[in-house]
Amino acid sequence: TFRGALLEYILHPEEHPSVVLRTTPHTVLIRDAFPKATVHLLLLPRSPAHYVLHPHDAFEDAEFLATMRAEAEVARGLAAKELERRVGAWSETNRKREEAKGRGVEEGVSGRDYGREVRVGVHAHPSMAHLHVHVVSRDMHSEKMKHRKHYNSFNTPFFVPLADYPLAENDVRRKTGFQNANLGKELVCWRCGEGFGNRFAELKRHLEGEFEKWRAE
Ligand code: 5GP
Ligand code: ZN
Repeated sequence: TFRGALLEYILHPEEHPSVVLRTTPHTVLIRDAFPKATVHLLLLPRSPAHYVLHPHDAFEDAEFLATMRAEAEVARGLAAKELERRVGAWSETNRKREEAKGRGVEEGVSGRDYGREVRVGVHAHPSMAHLHVHVVSRDMHSEKMKHRKHYNSFNTPFFVPLADYPLAENDVRRKTGFQNANLGKELVCWRCGEGFGNRFAELKRHLEGEFEKWRAE
């Protein structure tokens, strides 16, 4: 992968039907090629004036920010539906049980709001050159989640929720040095808060158990 790889999806979305989920006049919604969680999408703005900017600068534009927030909420809804399909094994069991009692539960009426399990935001210092908003389920359960920096980039203040923009002028997340400070931090389970130091393999095993508990919530 190279730093400019996302531009291709913005310029020629129709040539990547397996990656592109949705296009609007303002954005292209794609699947992350190396998903760090069960559902991991990227929302790319199509405006050339904005897609070359660092997120901290791009989201200073209030109108642009409002558009991206609105499109991100649609993306969250799509991600939530997909998440329910992917992790709803428990719901499926539950549905069968309810049906056996003659009650019947309609699909998608599990009562769980999967949109709340989807996070929307950017990395304080992105590696890819073109502006992208992560739309990602919170589980961090993925074979592509292979390094401490992968995990910490979504589970420390290095992950900046879109809702936090525009950042204040003195916001620490604007500072250089913020990157290393967060990506090298000790590992902490997103669900129970248990610390794992730098023991990534142990965290991965722990996340297997957390994934099963989370999907059964
Ligand atoms: P960043 O750290 O820059 O916020 O995240 C960039 C994201 O882009 C990563 O999650 C990475 O997996 C994803 N990515 C990198 N190259 C490609 C690519 O060629 N295609 C797609 N669909 N995603 C990519
Ligand atoms: Zn835990």
